[in-house]
Amino acid sequence: MEADSLKYRRQREAMVRKQIEARGVSDSAVLAAMQKVQRHLFVSEALRDQAYGDYPLPIGDGQTISQPYIVAEMTQALQLNPDDRVLEIGTGSGYQAAVIAEIAFRVYTIERIHSLFVKTRALFDRLKYHNIVTRYSDGTTGWSDQAPFDAIMVTAGAPDIPPILLQQLAVGGRLVMPVGDQHVQELIKLYRDADGIHQTKMGGCRFVKLIGEHGWHE
Ligand code: SAH
Repeated sequence: MEADSLKYRRQREAMVRKQIEARGVSDSAVLAAMQKVQRHLFVSEALRDQAYGDYPLPIGDGQTISQPYIVAEMTQALQLNPDDRVLEIGTGSGYQAAVIAEIAFRVYTIERIHSLFVKTRALFDRLKYHNIVTRYSDGTTGWSDQAPFDAIMVTAGAPDIPPILLQQLAVGGRLVMPVGDQHVQELIKLYRDADGIHQTKMGGCRFVKLIGEHGWHE
């Protein structure tokens, strides 16, 4: 494990206080996870000093690691419990999966770009995230072998919520996903109970495209 330098720890404290708590994220497990996960290790060395800034950053292959506040807000929306099994679509840098892995029992995360999949799997091993299971495939069809999930997070935007993901959500489960066109989306939160699906809107956002069978076509 890399030394977590005092400099980065202080930047992380300021990030949690000014960007996340100040904007209303209050779930103590989420705040603790954001304080713990070393975001600077999930970006390239050249970008480390920007890792705790209030913006997304490029991670290669035209993809991005989300702004810290968005990661915190989406994680809080999942209302995670320590025994939850969570599906994430869009592994990317691995940062969001690591934040979830600090709170939930296990994270199943899918990435469609092979180079990101390989690089991030190696990082999870190096940082000893033994409760993150990775897969290289099209996440828009979900992960049927491991369903149902207590929570599902999609970290790329699509015109609609892939119906298969709703089928893979447990009763009592929560799903968060950006839905909209290719330029701007709305963060949608779903809750599934015995009566069906209940949907709420969380506000505007901007994500890279979810590309696949039930997303955008390349
Ligand atoms: N959660 C990531 C965000 C990365 S950006 C992080 O914390 O860094 C979104 C990611 O979704 C990209 O890596 C992109 O390649 C991936 N993606 C897009 N469509 C996908 C699909 N159908 N299945 C799996 N991953 C997909």
